[in-house]
Amino acid sequence: TKWVYKFGGGDADGGTGDKNLLGGKGANLAEMAGIGLPVPPGFTITTEMCTRFYELGEDFPDDLDAQVQAGMQHIEKITGRRFGDTAAPLLVSVRSGARASMPGMMDTVLNLGLNDDTVAGLAAESGDERFAWDSYRRFIQMYSDVVLGLDHYLFEDAMEIAKEDKGVYLDTELEADDLKALVAVYKEKVEEELGRPFPQDPKDQLWGGIRAVFSSWNTERAKVYRRLNNIPHDWGTAVNVQAMVFGNMGDTSATGVAFTRDPSTGENRYYGEFLINAQGEDVVAGIRTPQYLTKAGKDAAGADKPAMEEAMPEVYAQLADTFALLEKHYRDMQDIEFTVQEGTLWLLQTRNGKRTAPAALKIAVDMAAEGLITEEEAVCRVDPQALDQLLHPTLDPDAKRDVIATGLPASPGAASGIIAFTADEAERRASLGEDVLLVRVETSPEDIHGMHAAKGILTARGGMTSHAAVVARGMGRPCVSGAGSLSIDRQTKEMTVGGRTFKEGDRLTIDGGTGEVMAGEVATVQPVLAGDFGTLMDWADKKRRMRVRTNAETPAECHTAREFGAEGIGLCRTEHMFFEADRITAVREMILSEDESDRRKALAKLLPSQRSDFEEIFRVMAGLPVTVRLLDPPLHEFMPQSDADFDEVARASGFSVERLKRRASELHEFNPMLGHRGCRLGITYPEIYEMQARAIFEAALTVAEENDGDGDTVLPEIMVPLVMTAGELSTIRALVERTADAVFQERGRRIAYLVGTMIELPRAALKAHEIAAHAEFFSFGTNDLTQTTLGISRDDAGRFLGDYVDKGLLARDPFVSIDEGGVGELVALAAERGRSTAPEIKLGICGEHGGDPDSVAFCEKTGLAYVSCSPYRVPIARLAAAQAAL
Ligand code: PEP
Ligand code: MG
Repeated sequence: TKWVYKFGGGDADGGTGDKNLLGGKGANLAEMAGIGLPVPPGFTITTEMCTRFYELGEDFPDDLDAQVQAGMQHIEKITGRRFGDTAAPLLVSVRSGARASMPGMMDTVLNLGLNDDTVAGLAAESGDERFAWDSYRRFIQMYSDVVLGLDHYLFEDAMEIAKEDKGVYLDTELEADDLKALVAVYKEKVEEELGRPFPQDPKDQLWGGIRAVFSSWNTERAKVYRRLNNIPHDWGTAVNVQAMVFGNMGDTSATGVAFTRDPSTGENRYYGEFLINAQGEDVVAGIRTPQYLTKAGKDAAGADKPAMEEAMPEVYAQLADTFALLEKHYRDMQDIEFTVQEGTLWLLQTRNGKRTAPAALKIAVDMAAEGLITEEEAVCRVDPQALDQLLHPTLDPDAKRDVIATGLPASPGAASGIIAFTADEAERRASLGEDVLLVRVETSPEDIHGMHAAKGILTARGGMTSHAAVVARGMGRPCVSGAGSLSIDRQTKEMTVGGRTFKEGDRLTIDGGTGEVMAGEVATVQPVLAGDFGTLMDWADKKRRMRVRTNAETPAECHTAREFGAEGIGLCRTEHMFFEADRITAVREMILSEDESDRRKALAKLLPSQRSDFEEIFRVMAGLPVTVRLLDPPLHEFMPQSDADFDEVARASGFSVERLKRRASELHEFNPMLGHRGCRLGITYPEIYEMQARAIFEAALTVAEENDGDGDTVLPEIMVPLVMTAGELSTIRALVERTADAVFQERGRRIAYLVGTMIELPRAALKAHEIAAHAEFFSFGTNDLTQTTLGISRDDAGRFLGDYVDKGLLARDPFVSIDEGGVGELVALAAERGRSTAPEIKLGICGEHGGDPDSVAFCEKTGLAYVSCSPYRVPIARLAAAQAAL
């Protein structure tokens, strides 16, 4: 088997297309080397090796050794250096690189190949003894942490002591002899901890590094990250071994990271940070505050140190050319790591850059306008789920702000929450339903779960590319990073700033768009949906086949949904209209009635309010279809709870509390979700559905009359819930038709309407061909269909479904994303059987899945006519529908 793929020297074994095999980093290094960009030579051990490694019980197959050796020889040949050589030692980096980027999740070792002998060679060759010993001590520290599993505090403490002894403050103030002594201390510590010396043989070091990267695939934090990002555990990581280049060889050397466009706003300008005389992780670690790449970036952030454009104009120009070339080549915004070694530019990585939702939108629309990509590609570039970030409120510009600090605007959006100083605390409080802000000096991959649980993240240290910033942008959490005036004490759980003290549980607000940190809560305003958003949505609308409707029952929701582009109501849950204070008593009266005439009295009280509800909805939705579902109440939700409730119903109905209580206990159900709900209620008490049908038709006629002249029609669609037999539907259909005819007769006018049913029980799906004979449309109620197909209570699933996802027994929560194999199969089958007897039947979905992009793709595949989802998810569904159609 070919396990090792080489790159460098103007050539490569693979390219971008080999991402699955070489991982993202390896594939792109090969691609860059292949198109002649300056990439230090190296090789990639494939992701298949990772799988094999675990199959062999964390061991390597026999044929790997020779291939790794050949890979090392390849690097030696191109660099003219030798691994382990004392005169011109080759040093390499060993890094992980999975298919999907997992920022900060996996481990990296730099300067591998240094030992007591080669360090002297590096010193002699570079003419810089300090540099050589600094590299060696960094290597011991990193290798001990990553490969040998020793605590990095061990070394940081030793470093602190060395600096104190010398009376200096910065690492860079330590001289060669100090570092030499420090290396000796480091080695002693390793031997003390492990009972064996630090490995001196470069070959041992290399294999230790390779093993560590493969092992890091299965660390707890990597698993958590994969779970949160839906990355399969069996993908594996590749290992990249690459010749080292040095950004810490003095003032003509540097290391940096850059985006070809602003990852926060999407603006078309280079965006990045670099550090002179620094190595590898110094920029992202947020330990030293980096300098900006461009003057513009610097001005925007008000930094005082020179930008790279000023400090290293020639290399900057070369870098800018490379950015342009890479964007053209990849046709997407790139996230680049580079190093400058004594004035020579080297590229260490490129990948499609992570970006905020606003940036994704702007970049997609701009690139289409620039002709770099097509409109179709632009539509496919934006993650529908990410639109969520744009649809939610931002801080009201007119609200009073008690600004206590300002940091970097690391990830946009506003968040208010109570302070939690640790990730665990953030998770704990969030699980109690509180809005939490995670407040840290800086974050690390161990904090992922807390960042996920938090509404927003605030750090005192770190730049725009710090861990906190990168991860927050990826997660869509607002983030302010590097708010340097905050002094955070984890021990006492206090944060002080400007003489004020904030404790755990105190409330703060952050604005990730400006970097402001405010005490207390600040009011928010609704987002604007014009500009790039409007453009992209227009393109999406041109491409999609399915219609997008909304699940809404109040006029306010209908307004929001129309603004978001809803093309009708797919589900108006009438029982939601019954909760309002002014009618709940009448609803209770109706439920607790003992006979039809009492029930009709109660219903008569409800009719006017139902009618005016429907009038308002028909007005807002003029010209668009409105699916009204007849009552589907889980009865227990409407039962009077307190004595006061009973008193009130007693007063309204004239019946005694005692009688009402007895009736309530008669109606008690052991399993209300499978009880007297849905159309079963209409079968037992037809007068309820009759009242609703009357309210709908009277309202429709009233609004139709108002609309005469402006051409907008009222299009009511009456939907019957929880049907299991064709007979149920035909019975209720007849009732609806009788009521319609009566109303039309009274008003002397007819309007068109449809009658259809929900398909939300397995039997209904199986008998769809019989049911379709009485229905003009089916709407799949996949919430109940999931509940009844899987036999899992939708209200209790949260307690245990997480374990199923964690254990890989379910890919995703089936109440969030449709279970294609089971529930999906029933949907497809019902669609086919329904069409067999009613070829023109209109098919849609109105369960929660209607706003989930993967489920929307399934609906497209199944040929449904529309999806219906909550108002805020309408744009998500529009974009997802377009992507599914393309
Ligand atoms: C459903 O069951 O999918 C549905 C839309 O109805 P409800 O959620 O109101 O039960
Ligand atoms: Mg339902």
